[in-house]
Amino acid sequence: MKLTAERAETMEAEAIIAEALKSAKNPCLTCSFQVEDMVVLHLARKSMPDIPVLFLDTGYHFPEVYAYRDRMVQEWGLNLVNLTPELTVEEQEARYGRVYETDPDRCCRMRKVNPLLRGLEAYDAWLTGLRREQSPSRKNLKKIEAHVLPSGKTIVKVNPIADWDWKGVWAYITVHEIPYLSLYDRGYRSIGCAPCTSLPIDPSDPRSGRWGGKKLECGIHTFDQEA
Ligand code: SF4
Repeated sequence: MKLTAERAETMEAEAIIAEALKSAKNPCLTCSFQVEDMVVLHLARKSMPDIPVLFLDTGYHFPEVYAYRDRMVQEWGLNLVNLTPELTVEEQEARYGRVYETDPDRCCRMRKVNPLLRGLEAYDAWLTGLRREQSPSRKNLKKIEAHVLPSGKTIVKVNPIADWDWKGVWAYITVHEIPYLSLYDRGYRSIGCAPCTSLPIDPSDPRSGRWGGKKLECGIHTFDQEA
């Protein structure tokens, strides 16, 4: 039976991932090395241990993120694809200053969205660890979505844990003894670039520590709407 968007809504994450990987020619997974992505990666590796793991290397991540990324690449033998912006951090700051302070949307576009759009061109299916509970901007997320890249190419976006809650994610991490990013032990709930990430301002809103609560998304999951 074909994996349709409608059927996926009734399926468990593991089954969605297994079927999506079976039907895709060139699947990939984006990974920020937060716990949600580690759950999806753990499940995906059961069917495809060498799935390309796309990391948006903005140059602005916490040192702990880079250390954890490198540790997991080594321990799990990951097929890491490091996506980098056109400009280094030094080049960007010399040319435009601290864009993350003056115009974070532009900074995210240069350092996250554009590298991802270029990177996704090589694939036909894209697995994510997005969850509906994470943010009002994600509450209507479907487990299977079609995404059109700027080139016109359509790829399948697979959000297998869209309906999971925070407790469920951590239960999975604990049961499977998956090492996790040390920043969680310091109270972080949603972890992006260091200059734009703080402890949650509102304890009930995990993403309230991102961009000082001024914006919700970097744009990598909303580029269709922007287009
Ligand atoms: S999260 Fe902040 S530092 Fe990272 S790309 Fe966006 S604006 Fe720039």
